[in-house]
Parts: sequence; structure tokens; C-alpha cells
Amino acid sequence: MTKSATVKQSTPNKPPKLSVGELTPEVIHDWDNACSTYFMHKGIDAGNQVKMIAFRMLDPHLHTWYLTWWIALDAGTFAKKVLGSQQGSRIFYKWALELQNQNALLYGNTAHLMDTQLCNQLEANICKDLTIPVLRVNLADDLTLKEWIEEVKHLDDKCCEDLASHKKIAKELYKSSKRTTSMSKPSSLKTYNVSSSHLGSLTEGEHSLLMKHRGCFKCRKFYISHQSKDCTDGTPEASSYKMLMELDAIVAKPKTKMVATVRPVGAVMPSTVLDDRSDSEDDMAHFQIF
Ligand SMILES: [Zn+2]
Repeated sequence: MTKSATVKQSTPNKPPKLSVGELTPEVIHDWDNACSTYFMHKGIDAGNQVKMIAFRMLDPHLHTWYLTWWIALDAGTFAKKVLGSQQGSRIFYKWALELQNQNALLYGNTAHLMDTQLCNQLEANICKDLTIPVLRVNLADDLTLKEWIEEVKHLDDKCCEDLASHKKIAKELYKSSKRTTSMSKPSSLKTYNVSSSHLGSLTEGEHSLLMKHRGCFKCRKFYISHQSKDCTDGTPEASSYKMLMELDAIVAKPKTKMVATVRPVGAVMPSTVLDDRSDSEDDMAHFQIF
């Protein structure tokens, strides 16, 4: 793993130095702070800020990149790149990091986004698979950008896991349906109750999810106060039953930090058609599971 870059500044009125290394949001934040302090102490106006600090970046690649982007920035293209960026099929955290890095380089320019704007920008351009989970969990309005990114990262991890397990089940189902078609005996499908009106027994995964999230084995709901022997809710309808996923548990979890209102999705730029993550997947991903 690459070592993180470091920010050094001897006194507030000396320009800070950025050493060679990986740019993490924390490093960028430190760099941002150090630069602001320096500009403030020296009374440097926005027009001169870039050239005052550009040469303090000790990584030649970063330096070149920075300058190249600043030239492009004058034409407004870099700012457009930041505002037009969409998650697409990328991992959320990587994309968020990239956007933060790019935004940090806009520092001192009017196109530089404040944390809340960047947060809105991210939220408005996350991939389709992540939009619903993010809206569902009702993240609190007072989260910092870093906290918000951590929360969404967690949801994205779950989405990826769910997608992977969906694909695995779909593949197994596809295999067994192929097998049963050739044998014309649909016995092995029972576990996933594809067409049966009878609710199948809990899978091992569902069982452990219910254990982990204080669920009831009868009504199969998470975070409820009763036990299955006292359950009055009854078993779920087989026809509409969906196999339990970790995400369901997260959604059902009583939220302490949450507020009642949904954070407004404030797109800074009108988002064009969102990339569908599953577009690039093979046909298996579209195989109907339930
Ligand atoms: Zn119950």
C-alpha cells in the first residue's frame, strides 16, 4: 500500500509543502487548511493563490497534473468534469475520493465546491442501485461530508454483497432449472420457492441474519420485541416473500442518528441518464429470482 502524502508547514505565514504519497481526503483537508491559513496570513488574493502553492507540491506528477488541470480549468472544462462526474459502475468510495481530490485541486477557484455542495453533488450522481438504499436510510442532515461518505460507503458495500449473492443464487437457480427442464422434474427449486405457494424454510443466511438483527424466525421481521414462539404476526405471504438480505435488516434497524426528513437531493448540475451498474453484467444478473 502506498504511503499517505503529508502536509508540512513551519509557520502559518510560510507556504505549506505537500510530500509525495497517496492523497487521502484527510491529507487534502490538511492541505486545504494549511493553504487557507497561509493565504490569510499573507493576504494573498484568489487570483494569485494557485501559483503561490503549486510549486510546493513535491510530487512531480501531482504538480504537473495540477498545473495541467488549472490550465484546463481556465476554460472551465475541469469544473465541468467535477460537476458532470457520475458514479456509474465504479465503487462508491473510490469515486467519492476521486471527486474530492479533483475538487481539492479547484481550491481557490469559484468552481471549488463547499462540503455541502460536494455532498449534494455525490448524492445526486450515485448509481441507480444505491439511490434507493440512501433515500431509505434517511441520513441525518448534520453529518459532515466525511461521515456521510462513510455511511454511503457502508450501504454501497452491502449493495455489492447483495448483488453478488443475487448473482450466485440466480446462477444456481439457472443451473438447476436447466437441469430440471431436461429431467422435467422441478424438485430442486423448492428451496427458493420460485413458483410454489408454500413458504420455503429459512436459508442458513436468513437464519443468521435474523439472529444477528434480533429478528423473529416466524414472521421473519428484524428488530422486533417478540420471540417466534410468541409471534402473532404469522408467517409472511409466500407469493410476495423476498429472501431476506442484510440491507433489509439495516433498513429495519431503529435509527438513532436519523431525522424525519429526507435530505433534499440538490443536484448542482442536471444529471444525465445514470449509468446502470448491471448493464455491464452478463444476462445472469437479469434472471428473475423471486
Ligand atoms: Zn414474529
